Amino acid sequence: MIEESGPTTLGQYSVKSGYYAIKCNAVTSQNPNKASSSHRIDKDLWNIVWNINCPKKIRTFLWRCCRNALPTAVGLYKRNCRASGICSICGQYDETIEHLLLSCDWTRGIWLSICGLQIDKQSISTFDDWLASVVKKLQGLSDAGQMILMKIAFTYWIIWKVRCEVVITHVELQPDRVVYRLQRAIGEYELAKFIAATRNVKNNEVGSDHHTWTKPDEGFLKLNSDGSFYASERSAGIGVVIRNHEGQVIDAYGKKVSACSALSVEALALRDAALLAVQRDYMKVCFEIDSSELLRNITCTRFEHLDWRISPIILDIQSLLHSFENQQVRKINRSANKAAY
Ligand SMILES: [Zn+2]
Repeated sequence: MIEESGPTTLGQYSVKSGYYAIKCNAVTSQNPNKASSSHRIDKDLWNIVWNINCPKKIRTFLWRCCRNALPTAVGLYKRNCRASGICSICGQYDETIEHLLLSCDWTRGIWLSICGLQIDKQSISTFDDWLASVVKKLQGLSDAGQMILMKIAFTYWIIWKVRCEVVITHVELQPDRVVYRLQRAIGEYELAKFIAATRNVKNNEVGSDHHTWTKPDEGFLKLNSDGSFYASERSAGIGVVIRNHEGQVIDAYGKKVSACSALSVEALALRDAALLAVQRDYMKVCFEIDSSELLRNITCTRFEHLDWRISPIILDIQSLLHSFENQQVRKINRSANKAAY
């Protein structure tokens, strides 16, 4: 589970304050006079780009952007491969990498919708300076910062792909569909990583302290559920993975949800796991979660002792648990519950 803080305390640097700084101040360049031609890239920036949580093809694409190595209209014009360096989409400005990816008008809504960034055209000098200034503002933000960087990386990549489709095949540009495409691409990538992580869980020997994941008894299915909560972005995701008594993953499931706290995300994840098990007519099931507080609520028999913030979800779960021939809910160590991260 990942939870970031609420309101910013004076003098403290939080996810919220860092993200807010980016959104409100837009992004200011470190070196406004730098030419937009091939130039030396800061070594630290390389390292950060190569460690962004995104597919390798996108990291490679970012590397090419930093090197100013995309075949933009301006680049092609300089090599006498095009009659003009003007942007084919807006028809108003030179199509540099910076214009194409950051400041062409149609991309504004995309940056705002996906990354929450308002791009200030005046503050952009070169692509890598812009990226470096974002990275600087995200420093120390750990998980939330990494997520923003991932979204930024995907946004660059999809904007480039869409631009190529529009320029080459003359399809109509539909920014709202681009937003949807981006959301889907990011969601599919996160789900694929989640499934890969669950497959990597080693079926070690039984540990009485529940520090390692263990296979369910024969005839039982085990459902590990977990949630990720990003308070600063008001976004959350849940994941469920189902394994049989041989430890094989037979299904995995993940989706984004709306939630107000980390605990409610955990509860929603368990409810989805229980619903899934009911819908599939599983009869003998073991649910594993990594939240002690959620387990306390699940096993609570007095309504007045339930955490009121999640009581409707808990009542749903308790009802669903009656649907099985045999069921148990266990709390395990987070490292053993590699379901949703
Ligand atoms: Zn343009």
